[in-house]
Amino acid sequence: MERFTKILATVGPAVDSKEKIHELVKAGANAFRLNFSHGEPEEHARRVAWIREIEAETNTPIAILQDLQGPKIRVGKFDKAHVLKVGDVFTFDNNEELGDATRVHLPHAEILTSLDVNDPIFVNDGVIQMKVIEKGEGYVKCEVTAGGEISDRKGMNLPGVDLPVTAMTDKDHRDVRYTLDTDLEVDWIALSFVQRPSDITELREIVGDKYKIMAKIEMPQAVDRIEEILPVVDGIMVARGDLGVEVPFAKVPLIQKSLIKQAQDMGKTVVVATQMLDSMVRNPSPTRAEASDIANAVFDGADAVMLSNESAAGDHPIAAVQAMASIAAFANQAPYFMRNQEFYFADTPADELATEDAISSSAAMIAEQLESKAIVCYTATGSTARRMSRQRPTTRIWSLTPDVKVARALALNYGISSRVVAAPESVDKLMPLATEKAKEFGAANEGEKIVITFGSPIGKLGSTNSIKVATV
Ligand code: PGA
Ligand code: MN
Repeated sequence: MERFTKILATVGPAVDSKEKIHELVKAGANAFRLNFSHGEPEEHARRVAWIREIEAETNTPIAILQDLQGPKIRVGKFDKAHVLKVGDVFTFDNNEELGDATRVHLPHAEILTSLDVNDPIFVNDGVIQMKVIEKGEGYVKCEVTAGGEISDRKGMNLPGVDLPVTAMTDKDHRDVRYTLDTDLEVDWIALSFVQRPSDITELREIVGDKYKIMAKIEMPQAVDRIEEILPVVDGIMVARGDLGVEVPFAKVPLIQKSLIKQAQDMGKTVVVATQMLDSMVRNPSPTRAEASDIANAVFDGADAVMLSNESAAGDHPIAAVQAMASIAAFANQAPYFMRNQEFYFADTPADELATEDAISSSAAMIAEQLESKAIVCYTATGSTARRMSRQRPTTRIWSLTPDVKVARALALNYGISSRVVAAPESVDKLMPLATEKAKEFGAANEGEKIVITFGSPIGKLGSTNSIKVATV
Protein backbone atom coordinates (compact mmCIF):
# COMPACT_ATOMS: atom_id res chain seq x y z
CA MET A 1 0.00 0.00 0.00
CA GLU A 2 1.34 3.43 -0.93
CA ARG A 3 2.35 5.73 1.90
CA PHE A 4 3.05 9.43 1.34
CA THR A 5 3.41 10.65 4.94
CA LYS A 6 6.93 10.04 6.18
CA ILE A 7 8.13 8.41 9.41
CA LEU A 8 10.86 10.00 11.52
CA ALA A 9 12.11 7.46 14.07
CA THR A 10 14.36 8.36 17.00
CA VAL A 11 17.32 6.02 17.42
CA GLY A 12 18.58 5.05 20.86
CA PRO A 13 19.55 2.12 23.06
CA ALA A 14 16.63 -0.08 21.93
CA VAL A 15 17.96 -0.14 18.36
CA ASP A 16 21.68 0.25 18.89
CA SER A 17 23.04 -1.87 16.03
CA LYS A 18 23.16 -1.65 12.26
CA GLU A 19 20.88 -4.69 12.02
CA LYS A 20 18.18 -3.18 14.24
CA ILE A 21 18.26 0.15 12.41
CA HIS A 22 17.99 -1.75 9.12
CA GLU A 23 14.90 -3.46 10.55
CA LEU A 24 13.41 0.01 11.21
CA VAL A 25 14.06 0.99 7.60
CA LYS A 26 12.38 -2.19 6.36
CA ALA A 27 9.45 -1.45 8.68
CA GLY A 28 9.05 1.98 7.07
CA ALA A 29 11.33 4.55 8.73
CA ASN A 30 12.27 7.25 6.19
CA ALA A 31 14.31 9.45 8.49
CA PHE A 32 16.10 9.17 11.83
CA ARG A 33 16.40 11.54 14.77
CA LEU A 34 19.55 11.63 16.89
CA ASN A 35 18.49 12.99 20.28
CA PHE A 36 21.46 15.00 21.56
CA SER A 37 19.79 15.31 24.99
CA HIS A 38 21.16 11.81 25.57
CA GLY A 39 24.42 10.07 24.81
CA GLU A 40 27.86 11.12 23.64
CA PRO A 41 28.47 12.60 20.17
CA GLU A 42 30.61 9.56 19.27
CA GLU A 43 27.62 7.31 19.93
CA HIS A 44 25.54 9.35 17.48
CA ALA A 45 28.36 9.35 14.93
CA ARG A 46 28.45 5.55 15.00
CA ARG A 47 24.72 5.48 14.27
CA VAL A 48 25.13 7.93 11.40
CA ALA A 49 27.75 5.63 9.86
CA TRP A 50 25.38 2.63 10.11
CA ILE A 51 22.52 4.60 8.57
CA ARG A 52 24.70 5.72 5.65
CA GLU A 53 25.76 2.09 5.06
CA ILE A 54 22.13 0.96 5.08
CA GLU A 55 21.30 3.81 2.70
CA ALA A 56 23.97 2.65 0.25
CA GLU A 57 22.82 -0.98 0.48
CA THR A 58 19.13 -0.17 -0.02
CA ASN A 59 19.76 2.62 -2.55
CA THR A 60 17.21 4.84 -0.79
CA PRO A 61 18.20 8.26 0.57
CA ILE A 62 17.55 8.61 4.30
CA ALA A 63 17.27 11.90 6.19
CA ILE A 64 19.09 12.31 9.52
CA LEU A 65 18.07 14.98 12.03
CA GLN A 66 20.40 16.16 14.79
CA ASP A 67 18.11 17.27 17.62
CA LEU A 68 19.85 19.73 19.97
CA GLN A 69 18.83 19.71 23.63
CA GLY A 70 18.35 23.46 23.93
CA PRO A 71 17.81 25.33 27.21
CA LYS A 72 15.91 22.59 29.03
CA ILE A 73 15.76 23.74 32.65
CA ARG A 74 16.58 21.05 35.20
CA VAL A 75 16.50 21.10 39.00
CA GLY A 76 19.61 20.12 40.97
CA LYS A 77 20.28 16.90 42.89
CA PHE A 78 18.64 15.52 46.04
CA ASP A 79 19.68 13.32 48.98
CA LYS A 80 16.93 10.97 47.75
CA ALA A 81 13.61 11.17 45.88
CA HIS A 82 10.82 13.00 47.71
CA VAL A 83 7.06 13.12 47.29
CA LEU A 84 5.62 16.62 47.45
CA LYS A 85 2.01 17.06 48.52
CA VAL A 86 -0.53 19.78 47.82
CA GLY A 87 0.01 22.66 50.27
CA ASP A 88 3.71 21.88 50.90
CA VAL A 89 6.09 24.82 50.70
CA PHE A 90 9.18 24.21 48.54
CA THR A 91 12.13 26.48 47.77
CA PHE A 92 14.44 26.70 44.75
CA ASP A 93 17.73 28.43 45.59
CA ASN A 94 21.33 29.04 44.58
CA ASN A 95 22.73 26.77 47.32
CA GLU A 96 24.60 23.86 45.75
CA GLU A 97 24.00 21.47 48.65
CA LEU A 98 21.86 18.37 47.96
CA GLY A 99 18.13 19.02 48.10
CA ASP A 100 15.58 17.57 50.54
CA ALA A 101 11.81 17.64 50.99
CA THR A 102 11.82 21.44 51.47
CA ARG A 103 14.35 22.82 48.96
CA VAL A 104 16.68 22.14 46.04
CA HIS A 105 19.40 23.92 44.09
CA LEU A 106 18.28 25.48 40.78
CA PRO A 107 21.44 25.62 38.68
CA HIS A 108 20.11 28.48 36.51
CA ALA A 109 20.68 31.78 38.38
CA GLU A 110 18.97 33.80 35.64
CA ILE A 111 15.76 31.80 36.10
CA LEU A 112 15.61 32.61 39.82
CA THR A 113 15.79 36.32 39.06
CA SER A 114 13.23 36.29 36.23
CA LEU A 115 10.52 34.51 38.28
CA ASP A 116 7.87 36.58 40.06
CA VAL A 117 5.27 35.96 42.75
CA ASN A 118 2.27 34.06 41.32
CA ASP A 119 4.27 32.56 38.41
CA PRO A 120 3.41 28.87 37.89
CA ILE A 121 6.23 26.29 37.91
CA PHE A 122 5.93 22.75 36.52
CA VAL A 123 8.35 19.95 37.37
CA ASN A 124 8.69 16.41 36.03
CA ASP A 125 6.71 16.81 32.75
CA GLY A 126 4.05 18.84 34.51
CA VAL A 127 3.23 16.21 37.13
CA ILE A 128 4.22 18.56 39.98
CA GLN A 129 2.74 22.04 39.86
CA MET A 130 3.70 24.97 42.09
CA LYS A 131 3.10 28.68 42.42
CA VAL A 132 5.71 31.22 43.51
CA ILE A 133 4.63 32.79 46.84
CA GLU A 134 7.80 34.65 47.84
CA LYS A 135 10.88 35.88 46.09
CA GLY A 136 14.16 36.94 47.64
CA GLU A 137 17.89 37.25 46.99
CA GLY A 138 18.89 33.92 45.37
CA TYR A 139 15.68 32.00 46.03
CA VAL A 140 12.00 31.59 45.19
CA LYS A 141 9.60 29.99 47.67
CA CYS A 142 6.65 28.08 46.18
CA GLU A 143 3.43 26.45 47.24
CA VAL A 144 2.72 23.00 45.77
CA THR A 145 -0.63 22.98 43.91
CA ALA A 146 -0.34 19.46 42.43
CA GLY A 147 1.84 16.86 44.10
CA GLY A 148 4.15 14.13 42.86
CA GLU A 149 7.67 12.74 43.06
CA ILE A 150 10.64 15.05 42.68
CA SER A 151 14.17 13.73 42.20
CA ASP A 152 17.60 14.48 40.65
CA ARG A 153 17.75 16.59 37.48
CA LYS A 154 14.02 16.50 36.73
CA GLY A 155 12.92 18.89 33.96
CA MET A 156 11.23 22.17 34.81
CA ASN A 157 8.78 24.14 32.67
CA LEU A 158 7.87 27.78 33.31
CA PRO A 159 4.88 28.40 31.07
CA GLY A 160 4.58 31.92 29.83
CA VAL A 161 7.70 33.27 31.52
CA ASP A 162 9.81 35.10 28.95
CA LEU A 163 13.16 33.52 29.71
CA PRO A 164 16.38 35.50 29.31
CA VAL A 165 18.03 32.60 27.49
CA THR A 166 18.70 31.97 23.82
CA ALA A 167 17.79 28.64 22.29
CA MET A 168 21.44 27.62 21.93
CA THR A 169 23.26 26.61 25.09
CA ASP A 170 27.02 25.99 25.43
CA LYS A 171 26.31 22.29 24.98
CA ASP A 172 24.36 22.98 21.78
CA HIS A 173 27.28 25.03 20.45
CA ARG A 174 29.65 22.14 21.23
CA ASP A 175 27.30 19.63 19.56
CA VAL A 176 27.02 21.72 16.38
CA ARG A 177 30.80 22.25 16.39
CA TYR A 178 31.23 18.49 16.57
CA THR A 179 28.97 18.07 13.54
CA LEU A 180 30.90 20.67 11.55
CA ASP A 181 34.38 19.57 12.64
CA THR A 182 33.79 15.87 11.99
CA ASP A 183 31.62 16.52 8.92
CA LEU A 184 28.91 14.40 10.53
CA GLU A 185 26.53 13.45 7.73
CA VAL A 186 23.29 14.86 9.12
CA ASP A 187 20.82 16.73 6.93
CA TRP A 188 18.66 18.60 9.42
CA ILE A 189 19.46 20.30 12.73
CA ALA A 190 16.58 20.87 15.15
CA LEU A 191 16.63 23.58 17.78
CA SER A 192 14.66 23.00 21.01
CA PHE A 193 12.67 25.61 22.98
CA VAL A 194 12.89 28.22 20.25
CA GLN A 195 11.29 31.46 21.48
CA ARG A 196 12.10 33.98 18.78
CA PRO A 197 13.50 34.28 15.23
CA SER A 198 16.91 35.42 16.53
CA ASP A 199 17.35 31.97 18.12
CA ILE A 200 17.37 30.56 14.59
CA THR A 201 19.68 33.26 13.26
CA GLU A 202 22.24 32.24 15.88
CA LEU A 203 22.37 28.70 14.44
CA ARG A 204 22.11 29.84 10.82
CA GLU A 205 25.16 32.02 11.23
CA ILE A 206 27.15 28.98 12.32
CA VAL A 207 25.96 26.40 9.78
CA GLY A 208 24.89 28.56 6.85
CA ASP A 209 22.99 26.55 4.24
CA LYS A 210 24.93 23.37 4.92
CA TYR A 211 22.06 21.92 6.96
CA LYS A 212 18.32 22.42 6.97
CA ILE A 213 17.10 24.00 10.19
CA MET A 214 14.00 22.87 12.07
CA ALA A 215 12.49 24.89 14.91
CA LYS A 216 10.85 22.79 17.60
CA ILE A 217 7.67 24.61 18.54
CA GLU A 218 7.20 23.82 22.22
CA MET A 219 6.93 27.26 23.81
CA PRO A 220 3.90 29.58 23.72
CA GLN A 221 6.27 32.40 22.70
CA ALA A 222 7.09 30.46 19.53
CA VAL A 223 3.41 29.75 18.82
CA ASP A 224 2.72 33.48 19.15
CA ARG A 225 5.62 34.42 16.88
CA ILE A 226 5.20 31.63 14.34
CA GLU A 227 4.71 34.09 11.48
CA GLU A 228 8.17 35.53 12.14
CA ILE A 229 9.80 32.15 12.79
CA LEU A 230 8.56 30.31 9.69
CA PRO A 231 10.33 32.56 7.15
CA VAL A 232 13.75 31.88 8.73
CA VAL A 233 13.49 28.08 9.08
CA ASP A 234 13.26 25.15 6.66
CA GLY A 235 10.80 23.30 8.84
CA ILE A 236 9.08 23.06 12.20
CA MET A 237 8.28 20.30 14.64
CA VAL A 238 5.03 20.34 16.56
CA ALA A 239 6.80 19.21 19.76
CA ARG A 240 3.72 18.20 21.70
CA GLY A 241 5.58 16.86 24.76
CA ASP A 242 6.89 20.10 26.17
CA LEU A 243 4.23 22.13 24.36
CA GLY A 244 1.51 20.32 26.34
CA VAL A 245 3.10 21.48 29.58
CA GLU A 246 3.91 25.02 28.43
CA VAL A 247 0.34 25.61 27.23
CA PRO A 248 -2.82 23.91 28.55
CA PHE A 249 -2.80 20.41 27.01
CA ALA A 250 -6.36 20.96 25.83
CA LYS A 251 -5.05 23.51 23.31
CA VAL A 252 -2.47 21.17 21.74
CA PRO A 253 -4.78 19.72 19.03
CA LEU A 254 -5.77 23.19 17.81
CA ILE A 255 -2.20 24.44 17.85
CA GLN A 256 -1.16 21.33 15.90
CA LYS A 257 -3.70 22.01 13.16
CA SER A 258 -2.86 25.68 12.97
CA LEU A 259 0.93 25.12 12.87
CA ILE A 260 0.65 22.50 10.13
CA LYS A 261 -1.53 24.77 8.01
CA GLN A 262 0.76 27.78 8.44
CA ALA A 263 3.90 25.75 7.69
CA GLN A 264 2.33 24.32 4.57
CA ASP A 265 1.12 27.75 3.45
CA MET A 266 4.72 28.92 3.55
CA GLY A 267 6.11 25.79 1.91
CA LYS A 268 7.94 24.65 5.04
CA THR A 269 8.36 21.06 6.20
CA VAL A 270 6.28 20.08 9.25
CA VAL A 271 6.71 17.13 11.62
CA VAL A 272 4.21 16.07 14.30
CA ALA A 273 5.94 14.58 17.34
CA THR A 274 5.60 12.93 20.73
CA GLN A 275 3.45 10.25 22.33
CA MET A 276 2.04 9.18 18.96
CA LEU A 277 2.35 5.52 20.02
CA ASP A 278 3.25 6.02 23.68
CA SER A 279 1.55 2.83 24.86
CA MET A 280 3.79 0.82 22.50
CA VAL A 281 6.79 1.64 24.68
CA ARG A 282 5.43 -1.31 26.71
CA ASN A 283 2.67 -2.91 24.64
CA PRO A 284 2.95 -4.72 21.29
CA SER A 285 -0.01 -2.91 19.72
CA PRO A 286 -1.36 0.64 19.83
CA THR A 287 -4.45 2.01 21.49
CA ARG A 288 -7.31 3.00 19.16
CA ALA A 289 -6.82 6.61 20.25
CA GLU A 290 -3.19 6.47 19.09
CA ALA A 291 -4.22 5.01 15.72
CA SER A 292 -6.66 7.90 15.37
CA ASP A 293 -4.07 10.46 16.43
CA ILE A 294 -1.63 9.36 13.71
CA ALA A 295 -4.36 9.28 11.04
CA ASN A 296 -5.50 12.76 12.03
CA ALA A 297 -1.95 14.16 11.84
CA VAL A 298 -1.85 12.68 8.33
CA PHE A 299 -5.19 14.29 7.43
CA ASP A 300 -3.98 17.61 8.90
CA GLY A 301 -1.25 17.49 6.24
CA ALA A 302 1.91 16.72 8.22
CA ASP A 303 4.99 15.87 6.14
CA ALA A 304 6.11 13.37 8.74
CA VAL A 305 5.06 11.79 12.01
CA MET A 306 7.63 11.02 14.68
CA LEU A 307 8.45 8.29 17.16
CA SER A 308 10.48 9.11 20.29
CA ASN A 309 10.84 6.58 23.11
CA GLU A 310 8.72 4.15 21.13
CA SER A 311 11.61 3.47 18.73
CA ALA A 312 14.57 4.67 20.82
CA ALA A 313 14.02 3.04 24.18
CA GLY A 314 10.82 0.99 24.04
CA ASP A 315 10.16 -2.75 24.13
CA HIS A 316 8.73 -2.88 20.58
CA PRO A 317 10.63 -0.46 18.30
CA ILE A 318 10.09 -2.37 15.05
CA ALA A 319 6.41 -3.06 15.75
CA ALA A 320 5.94 0.65 16.52
CA VAL A 321 7.31 1.69 13.11
CA GLN A 322 5.20 -0.99 11.42
CA ALA A 323 2.07 0.20 13.22
CA MET A 324 2.75 3.83 12.36
CA ALA A 325 3.44 2.94 8.71
CA SER A 326 0.23 0.99 8.27
CA ILE A 327 -1.94 3.59 10.01
CA ALA A 328 -0.44 6.38 7.86
CA ALA A 329 -0.74 4.32 4.68
CA PHE A 330 -4.44 3.58 5.29
CA ALA A 331 -5.03 7.27 5.98
CA ASN A 332 -3.24 8.20 2.75
CA GLN A 333 -5.67 5.96 0.81
CA ALA A 334 -8.66 8.11 1.81
CA PRO A 335 -8.88 10.68 -1.00
CA TYR A 336 -11.76 12.53 0.63
CA PHE A 337 -9.69 13.32 3.73
CA MET A 338 -6.37 13.75 1.94
CA ARG A 339 -7.73 16.12 -0.72
CA ASN A 340 -9.49 18.31 1.79
CA GLN A 341 -7.79 21.44 0.54
CA GLU A 342 -7.47 23.45 -2.62
CA PHE A 343 -4.23 23.37 -4.53
CA TYR A 344 -1.88 26.23 -3.74
CA PHE A 345 -1.80 29.07 -6.22
CA ALA A 346 0.78 31.83 -5.97
CA ASP A 347 -0.26 34.79 -3.83
CA THR A 348 0.64 37.25 -6.56
CA PRO A 349 1.88 36.64 -10.10
CA ALA A 350 4.95 38.71 -9.22
CA ASP A 351 5.86 36.26 -6.47
CA GLU A 352 9.32 34.77 -7.02
CA LEU A 353 7.94 31.23 -7.01
CA ALA A 354 4.62 31.99 -8.73
CA THR A 355 5.49 30.07 -11.91
CA GLU A 356 6.75 27.14 -9.86
CA ASP A 357 3.48 27.04 -7.89
CA ALA A 358 1.38 27.28 -11.07
CA ILE A 359 3.35 24.42 -12.60
CA SER A 360 3.15 22.35 -9.40
CA SER A 361 -0.60 22.69 -8.88
CA SER A 362 -1.26 21.99 -12.57
CA ALA A 363 1.02 18.97 -12.59
CA ALA A 364 -0.81 17.57 -9.56
CA MET A 365 -4.17 18.06 -11.30
CA ILE A 366 -2.98 16.52 -14.56
CA ALA A 367 -1.57 13.53 -12.70
CA GLU A 368 -4.87 13.02 -10.86
CA GLN A 369 -6.94 13.23 -14.06
CA LEU A 370 -4.69 10.85 -15.95
CA GLU A 371 -4.32 8.58 -12.93
CA SER A 372 -0.58 8.74 -13.50
CA LYS A 373 1.69 6.68 -11.31
CA ALA A 374 4.30 9.37 -10.96
CA ILE A 375 5.12 13.04 -11.09
CA VAL A 376 8.80 13.21 -11.98
CA CYS A 377 10.60 16.41 -11.17
CA TYR A 378 14.17 17.32 -11.71
CA THR A 379 15.49 19.43 -8.88
CA ALA A 380 19.00 20.75 -8.32
CA THR A 381 18.34 22.47 -4.99
CA GLY A 382 15.25 20.53 -3.85
CA SER A 383 13.06 23.62 -4.16
CA THR A 384 10.96 22.32 -7.08
CA ALA A 385 10.33 19.02 -5.29
CA ARG A 386 9.31 20.77 -2.07
CA ARG A 387 6.92 23.11 -3.92
CA MET A 388 5.42 20.02 -5.58
CA SER A 389 5.12 18.27 -2.20
CA ARG A 390 3.42 21.33 -0.69
CA GLN A 391 0.46 20.69 -3.00
CA ARG A 392 0.04 17.33 -1.18
CA PRO A 393 -0.73 15.53 -4.46
CA THR A 394 -2.21 12.05 -4.30
CA THR A 395 0.37 10.99 -6.91
CA ARG A 396 3.89 10.01 -5.84
CA ILE A 397 6.58 12.58 -6.57
CA TRP A 398 9.82 11.17 -7.96
CA SER A 399 12.46 13.73 -7.36
CA LEU A 400 15.66 13.38 -9.38
CA THR A 401 18.73 15.32 -8.29
CA PRO A 402 22.48 15.07 -8.79
CA ASP A 403 23.09 16.12 -5.17
CA VAL A 404 22.95 13.37 -2.55
CA LYS A 405 22.48 15.96 0.23
CA VAL A 406 19.38 17.31 -1.52
CA ALA A 407 18.03 13.79 -1.98
CA ARG A 408 18.56 12.96 1.70
CA ALA A 409 16.91 16.09 3.09
CA LEU A 410 13.83 15.46 0.91
CA ALA A 411 13.32 12.04 2.51
CA LEU A 412 11.40 13.89 5.25
CA ASN A 413 8.92 15.52 2.86
CA TYR A 414 5.42 14.32 2.07
CA GLY A 415 5.03 12.14 -1.02
CA ILE A 416 8.59 12.42 -2.27
CA SER A 417 10.77 9.52 -3.38
CA SER A 418 14.13 11.10 -4.04
CA ARG A 419 16.87 9.55 -6.13
CA VAL A 420 20.34 10.63 -7.15
CA VAL A 421 21.00 10.82 -10.92
CA ALA A 422 23.80 12.29 -13.02
CA ALA A 423 22.97 15.86 -14.03
CA PRO A 424 21.63 16.02 -17.60
CA GLU A 425 23.66 18.27 -19.91
CA SER A 426 20.64 20.01 -21.40
CA VAL A 427 16.86 20.18 -21.29
CA ASP A 428 16.68 17.82 -24.32
CA LYS A 429 18.31 15.10 -22.25
CA LEU A 430 15.83 15.54 -19.41
CA MET A 431 12.83 13.78 -20.99
CA PRO A 432 14.64 10.55 -21.85
CA LEU A 433 16.29 10.67 -18.42
CA ALA A 434 12.92 11.01 -16.66
CA THR A 435 11.27 8.12 -18.51
CA GLU A 436 14.32 5.90 -18.22
CA LYS A 437 14.68 6.55 -14.49
CA ALA A 438 10.94 6.15 -13.89
CA LYS A 439 11.24 2.66 -15.31
CA GLU A 440 14.50 1.86 -13.52
CA PHE A 441 13.18 2.95 -10.11
CA GLY A 442 9.83 1.22 -10.60
CA ALA A 443 7.96 4.54 -10.55
CA ALA A 444 5.89 3.47 -13.58
CA ASN A 445 5.69 0.52 -15.94
CA GLU A 446 6.26 0.53 -19.65
CA GLY A 447 3.29 2.10 -21.45
CA GLU A 448 2.14 4.08 -18.40
CA LYS A 449 1.91 7.84 -18.38
CA ILE A 450 4.02 10.04 -16.13
CA VAL A 451 3.93 13.79 -15.59
CA ILE A 452 7.29 15.54 -15.80
CA THR A 453 8.04 19.04 -14.53
CA PHE A 454 11.23 20.81 -15.42
CA GLY A 455 12.72 24.14 -16.30
CA SER A 456 15.47 25.72 -18.24
CA PRO A 457 18.17 26.62 -17.71
CA ILE A 458 18.60 23.40 -15.78
CA GLY A 459 19.42 23.85 -12.14
CA LYS A 460 18.54 27.51 -11.77
CA LEU A 461 16.41 28.15 -8.66
CA GLY A 462 12.80 28.96 -9.56
CA SER A 463 13.26 28.19 -13.24
CA THR A 464 10.62 25.43 -13.36
CA ASN A 465 8.31 26.47 -16.16
CA SER A 466 7.27 23.35 -18.10
CA ILE A 467 5.05 20.30 -17.80
CA LYS A 468 5.16 17.31 -20.10
CA VAL A 469 3.11 14.13 -20.13
CA ALA A 470 5.25 11.24 -21.33
CA THR A 471 4.68 7.54 -21.78
CA VAL A 472 7.28 5.26 -20.26
P1 PGA B 1 11.87 16.29 23.02
O1 PGA B 1 11.05 17.17 22.00
O2 PGA B 1 11.46 14.88 22.84
O3 PGA B 1 13.28 16.55 22.65
O4 PGA B 1 11.49 16.86 24.35
C1 PGA B 1 9.79 16.82 21.56
C2 PGA B 1 8.68 17.35 22.44
O5 PGA B 1 8.91 18.10 23.38
O6 PGA B 1 7.54 16.99 22.11
MN1 MN C 1 10.78 18.93 23.90
